[in-house]
Amino acid sequence: MSRRPTRDSDPLAELGVPFQYLYAEGWGMVSGAYGRVLRPRCIEELRLVVATCGAEGIPMAFRGAGRSYGDASHSDRGVMIDISGVNQILAFDPETGIVDAQAGVTIEQLWKYLLPRSHWPAVVPGTMAPTLAGVTSMNVHGKNNFKVGATGDQIEDLDLLLPNGELITVGRESNERLFRGVVGGLGQLGCITRVRMKTKRVHSGRLKVGALSAGNLAEMMEHMRTWHSDADYLVGWVDCFAAGERTGRGLTHVAWHLKSGEDPHGGETLTVPYQELPSSILGFPKSEVWRPLRVLNRDRGMRWLNGLKHFMGKREAKKDPYLQSHAGFNFLLDYVPNWKFAYGRKPGHGLIQYQPFLPDEVAHDVLVDLLGMCQDAGHVSYLGVLKRHRPDDYLLTHALDGWSLALDFKVHPENRGRLWSLCDAMTQKVLDAGGKFYFAKDLVLGAGATKRFLPPKDLKAFLKLKGEMDPDGLLQTDQTRRVLDPLGDPYDPPLTHF
Ligand SMILES: Cc1cc2nc3c(=O)[nH]c(=O)nc-3n(C[C@H](O)[C@H](O)[C@H](O)COP(=O)(O)OP(=O)(O)OC[C@H]3O[C@@H](n4cnc5c(N)ncnc54)[C@H](O)[C@@H]3O)c2cc1C
Repeated sequence: MSRRPTRDSDPLAELGVPFQYLYAEGWGMVSGAYGRVLRPRCIEELRLVVATCGAEGIPMAFRGAGRSYGDASHSDRGVMIDISGVNQILAFDPETGIVDAQAGVTIEQLWKYLLPRSHWPAVVPGTMAPTLAGVTSMNVHGKNNFKVGATGDQIEDLDLLLPNGELITVGRESNERLFRGVVGGLGQLGCITRVRMKTKRVHSGRLKVGALSAGNLAEMMEHMRTWHSDADYLVGWVDCFAAGERTGRGLTHVAWHLKSGEDPHGGETLTVPYQELPSSILGFPKSEVWRPLRVLNRDRGMRWLNGLKHFMGKREAKKDPYLQSHAGFNFLLDYVPNWKFAYGRKPGHGLIQYQPFLPDEVAHDVLVDLLGMCQDAGHVSYLGVLKRHRPDDYLLTHALDGWSLALDFKVHPENRGRLWSLCDAMTQKVLDAGGKFYFAKDLVLGAGATKRFLPPKDLKAFLKLKGEMDPDGLLQTDQTRRVLDPLGDPYDPPLTHF
């Protein structure tokens, strides 16, 4: 726990950089840390803060928009450094589509800048809130992961601020070893301050979208296999309540970019207002929609809602492909701001997301087993999302040639222990099948699991880099102490920290 320093022994206060003592939460609201959060307003202030912490031996945790579900961007030791104020777009080349931006720029800022210039970020997550630092440190993927890879694959080079105050440029080719560690590196090798990345040329502000209703998981995977070589985006919504023959039923969405001239209204859709999500839903102001959702947010309500969505999905699938804005397709979860509040506002209430990645050849059977395990344990996920992935070579990567199923679980103080035990049992199954996990979504893994799913040579290479870039081990978060720290110990720690 950070202690409040006294006035005469507070080198950070003397810098004049704004800070507050507060409780910084993980996005799922069931993890957090009380501590000092510094908010540098420009790169010079960020450099001062990092160098001062480095010189004074103060542990640092970096925080972007705080959109990781678990404990990735908070820490109860030392200070938390919120980099979201370092957020200038520095340059853009419309010929190459390469944008150069400070790391606190959000995906929202970026697409709003790019779209009128006929470009779109090459990879976006399901919400537009994250920063470039956050999406790089987690190597975030979009619904097009199978096609274009993840965030790291778009990056040409980035600037990294080391705990000793030195600022270095890390290139994909010029410093390949470090690049493979920083991308997806959980902020453990330095503070990312600038990113230069490729973006996608677009001819319309809309995508062509098609839907197919799937009676079970095998059908959904078959749809995605059929579209795999041709589609630009693929995603499946899964009704996790459906059982037996219907396990994994849901709706598959496929989307394609439009070619030049294909959209007669292409020009006028390349504007920010065209993309804006609706301001009300069924008459409710968007910002209040989480309130009625709270009534449904229990097993009976969610079983009904998932059933209704499946029924509506069958109707949607009968229609011809339609046009939808990029923002509407990609940021569906932003339609309802703060929808997470439907999971409860009291302390200890919220959600976790559990997202196992499984190799193609075993994915179907293991995922069906996992859905059955959830039902048997009485912890059915209220939202399931299936994606197709491709492998990459970052040192802490979760990517593989296969599939992931993201499962949202409601958490409250009474079910937490049982839910964590279920996650333990599922983790064991996933690891036995050669699967992996994604730290952006994690709050349940232990270092023993990390050790099993990361290739030993990659883990060793990462820990070696950590020793070189951060010799005093000052860069840490609650998550890295949980999933990485005990790795140096000679004994094999238990699978989870519970
Ligand atoms: C509704 C929702 C939908 C999502 N959908 C997807 C999805 O489709 N695909 C996907 O891959 N992810 C998805 N995510 C996860 C999200 O994209 C990632 O967690 C992302 O990392 C969040 O970015 P952030 O800016 O909020 O970073 P934070 O969560 O604040 O931090 C993430 C990591 O980056 C590190 N970090 C922050 N700043 C720096 C810095 N300057 N230098 C070095 N390290 C730093 C932090 O220490 C932490 O380890 C989703 C999250 C939500 C809430």
